Formats: sequence, structure tokens, C-alpha cells
Amino acid sequence: MNLIDIGDSILISRLESLAKAERELLAKVLHHLREVERRRLFAELGYKSLHDFATKHLAYSDDQAYRRIAAMRLLKEVPEIEQKITSGEISLSHISLAQNLFNQERKYSGKIFSKEQKQEIFSQISTKPIREAERITASMASQHIPAKPDQIRIVTEEKVELKFQASRSLQDKIEKLKGLLAHKKPNIQLGELFEQLCDIGLKQLDPGKVATSRKQCGINKNSNAEVRREIFRNAGNKCQNCGSTHALQIDHIHPKAKGGLDTKENLRVLCRNCNQRAAIKEFGVGKMELYLKV
Ligand SMILES: [Zn+2]
Repeated sequence: MNLIDIGDSILISRLESLAKAERELLAKVLHHLREVERRRLFAELGYKSLHDFATKHLAYSDDQAYRRIAAMRLLKEVPEIEQKITSGEISLSHISLAQNLFNQERKYSGKIFSKEQKQEIFSQISTKPIREAERITASMASQHIPAKPDQIRIVTEEKVELKFQASRSLQDKIEKLKGLLAHKKPNIQLGELFEQLCDIGLKQLDPGKVATSRKQCGINKNSNAEVRREIFRNAGNKCQNCGSTHALQIDHIHPKAKGGLDTKENLRVLCRNCNQRAAIKEFGVGKMELYLKV
């Protein structure tokens, strides 16, 4: 594209049109993301989450994916925001800032913002520069809220750097643990300590080793803990569709609601997303939407 010969005013007006088209396109992207999530299509394609799909399939960066998903969730709840996005009155940065505040408050203080409150916050921050908007949302946050989200940075193929904010009480507990381990492992590093704690946790919670309630695994009284362990063991303690190890559930390949049995041959391990996608394929998204929450 050669722009050298076009006049100044045409250059500016073209750029204005492009920026407008870009914002309109963004709103369309958000609607499409929403529908992919509603259908759990990312699971069908073998991705562990919508974020995984957005980064690997759509080639967004982590941050770009995060912001778009945050905006998409907000658009679903507050459709009026679309007009602000297309007019350029509000940016993705502002939206993810506000969404962070809503999520963190819900998580740490149990506070739920109403749609009207959210709209009010957006009208307060929308026209402000991002630093000013950050200051406003920070002033609305409770004291417990960590200032930054957790961070994982790949250092080498074998090593990662984990960064997270924690409470003073966690620090105290770490010091106590270090003290208890001091005779065996003086000067234990945090990474090694957390690895040991994770091993203990996994031993207790690993679904392949410990039977949880029948209600949780969805198998009736005819099945038993041994069947459940075997299903998980055979699946390598991973989702058999996407490989995720998060929120694993036992799924009936031929659904129970359609007469599927609790036999080993009819059971498999799926993560929650893949399980929901399987149900959507079987029963339709309209029907499943009544049961599923996004
Ligand atoms: Zn899965």
C-alpha cells in the first residue's frame, strides 16, 4: 500500500474510517467469541478453554485474548456497552480494568455489582485516560484485593517463574513449615516447598486414587470406587478430548438420559468444558443453556 502521494486530509479521513471499521469489527469479534463459548466449540476443537482457543487458534497474545474475553463477558451482561465500544468511547483496556474489579470483588469480598452499578462505573471511567481509570477502579477496590494477577513466566524448558501476591498469614505458615522441615531440609527454597505441598495435595485429591462421592462422579450405586479409579487411570488422569487436567469429570459416552449404562465401556474422563460440549452436541445448545452457566 502506497500512501506517499495522497493528500493530508484524505489520509486523515481514511484513517478515521479505518479506526471506526476496526471498532465495529471488534464488536463483531466479541459476538462471535460469545457464540463459540455458548456452544463450547473450543472444546470440540481440542482446546482446554476459550482463552486457550483464542491464543492458539486465533493467534491473539495472552493479553489480547484476556481483554477480548473480558469484554465479551461484559457485553453479554450489559449489551448497552456495545455502542460505547463502536463509538470508541470505551476501550478494551477500560473494560478489562473494570471486569478485573468486578471479578476480584466477587472473589475476595463476595460483592456482586448490579448491572446499573456496572454501567455507573463505566460512565465514570470511560472517557478518562487509562492511568486515571486505574486510579478510580483501585479506589473502589477492597483492601484484600491483590494488586496484580498471578503470573507464570517460562524460564527454560524445565523451569518456570511463578509470581503471586499472598496474605501475611500465608507467609507465617510458610515460615512455620520451613521451621518444621529445618532438620531435614535446611534452607528449603519456596519452589521445592510448594512442590512437596502439591504432592501431598495431589495424593489426597487425585481422582484416580481417591474415590469421591457418587454424586460428584455421576455414577450410580452399581458402580464403585474401583471402576472410577480404573477409568481415571486408563485416561492418564487427563481429559480424553483436550488433555486438560482441570475440573475432570466422568462422562457417559452414551448419555444416561438416553439409557446409557454405568459400564466401564460407556465411561470416560472429560474436563468440564468437554463434558458440557458433549452434552450440547447430544441435547442441543438451547436446552443445555438452561443448565449451564458461563
Ligand atoms: Zn477437555
